[in-house]
Amino acid sequence: MLSTSKFVAIALAICLCAITTVVIGRFFQPSEPKLVWTMVNVNTAVQGDAHLIQVKRGKTVLIDAGYPEMAQEQLIPFLQTNQIDHLDLVFVTHAHRDHYGGIEPILQAGIKIKEVYFNLPDKKICDQEIPWGCNYEEVLQYHQMLKAHQAKVKSAYPGQAFNLGNQATLRILYAFDGINTPVGTTDINDMSLIIKLEHAQHQYLFTGDLNHTIGDYLAKNSQELAADVLDVPHHGTEGVAPNEFFAQVGAKYALVPSPQGLWCSDRSSRIRNWFQDHDTPVLVNGFSGHVRVEDYGNRLEISTEKEHDSSVCS
Ligand SMILES: [Zn+2]
Repeated sequence: MLSTSKFVAIALAICLCAITTVVIGRFFQPSEPKLVWTMVNVNTAVQGDAHLIQVKRGKTVLIDAGYPEMAQEQLIPFLQTNQIDHLDLVFVTHAHRDHYGGIEPILQAGIKIKEVYFNLPDKKICDQEIPWGCNYEEVLQYHQMLKAHQAKVKSAYPGQAFNLGNQATLRILYAFDGINTPVGTTDINDMSLIIKLEHAQHQYLFTGDLNHTIGDYLAKNSQELAADVLDVPHHGTEGVAPNEFFAQVGAKYALVPSPQGLWCSDRSSRIRNWFQDHDTPVLVNGFSGHVRVEDYGNRLEISTEKEHDSSVCS
């Protein structure tokens, strides 16, 4: 049995401890982010893009879905772990398989897509990339597959704006059709939707596989490129947008959807050097795994699945 004095002492200690916990809880418990962007790692073997945007008490959005195999290995488990059973909005930036292929495993996994923006490429431009790039028949099949799963399949056009809730807005800045552009015909990559996400004082830019031709045009003519965090176009690899484009964006952080080997190859050296010369932190899927950007309104926090200095290519 405890003596009375010992009992009082222990009771006091428990009581103090409880008070401390409450106080710490009140002042130091981190608040939940209002918006989270995860650059899902669909880059363990080959390159691809998959960006999940979750707005607290708002919409869940996916920009691109990676290759089917990568989606099966990475994206589907990620969505399931995070208990995401539907996507309010899906944007396919352009008709390359490393951007749209993962749509099929998403549907097969029973994850509902409510609305998808997936522009059909011009058949002639698509056929120029046979057999290595665009596959017109498969793109049509994906449209049919989406419709069969009750997804609304729509076209994206510049100026379109989406209210994601909680003061988050997504806008399509550009959606060139590859034919009627200010610089003549382009390839499929330069058809990439250029998407701006805004929340509180932060801006995010998603660029698909924006390449040199349209990238150069935008660098010279657009007033809307500025962003805090940039999804680096075309996996950070040539013939990506010119340095002037990166200068116009002026991002504080650069997220690169690329495997290690591609990011460290000669094809990415100009882009690696540009961000290094501008002291911009770079986070690469191939090194960091999933990369998570948390937006608290007044501040941003970036964390990674794996700890690795992705600026170092040995
Ligand atoms: Zn592409």
